[in-house]
Amino acid sequence: MLILCTNDDGYFATGLGVLAEAARSAGEVRIVAPDREQSATSHSLTMHHPLRAHRVNDFTQRVDGTPTDCVALALGALLDQKPDVVLSGVNHGANMGEDVLYSGTVAGAMEATILGIPAIAFSYTGRDPEAIVKIRPLLERLITQLLSQPEFPPETLLNINIPPVETEVRGVRVTRLARRVYTGSLTRAHDPSGREYFWIGGGASEWKADEDSDFHAVKNGYISVTPLHLDLTNYKLLSGMREWGLTHE
Ligand code: MN
Repeated sequence: MLILCTNDDGYFATGLGVLAEAARSAGEVRIVAPDREQSATSHSLTMHHPLRAHRVNDFTQRVDGTPTDCVALALGALLDQKPDVVLSGVNHGANMGEDVLYSGTVAGAMEATILGIPAIAFSYTGRDPEAIVKIRPLLERLITQLLSQPEFPPETLLNINIPPVETEVRGVRVTRLARRVYTGSLTRAHDPSGREYFWIGGGASEWKADEDSDFHAVKNGYISVTPLHLDLTNYKLLSGMREWGLTHE
């Protein structure tokens, strides 16, 4: 089995190294990852300047682009054969609820799904990125179990969030996305020249987390596995909206 690993924290990130080591228990591993941090770049694709790939070692190439670029380049040019699965992560930080829409880690997996390759995104929800080395055995077990399923769900990626190492893991839960509400995450201030600037990030966040949600699972010490599909259509609204009688004239 050929396994492609990527991430959004950069090719040098501890989480990616640990993921690749864990994946080696399931197959042959290749890494194509961004040459710098690309967190929160979402599903962005670089179209307005050329991309370059550089060899890091026999198994690893770094690309001056986003996780989506990395997967597109790997599948379209850099690998000799199509990988059987793409693993993205292990991200330093959670990717739950609406955060999956901003996440480069999830986008790497999403790009693989679009290109028809099974994909799994992994995120570590603890604070210390170096602690990710301790979850390697757990990752190995998860990867082995997931890749030995008789059929990987089509047009679906799996989004996995792992509780902090300080927590005693109680099990695995299959979940849905929670809802997140950010407050105060936009800072408005002035630079030393007196010009106004804005800074997105930080602030407080609250979760609307039902019992079957990803946030609830992780908070209670469970590994969360959420199946995500890429069709954003609101099917419940279709028939009602068709009654709006929208017309072009
Ligand atoms: Mn990241």
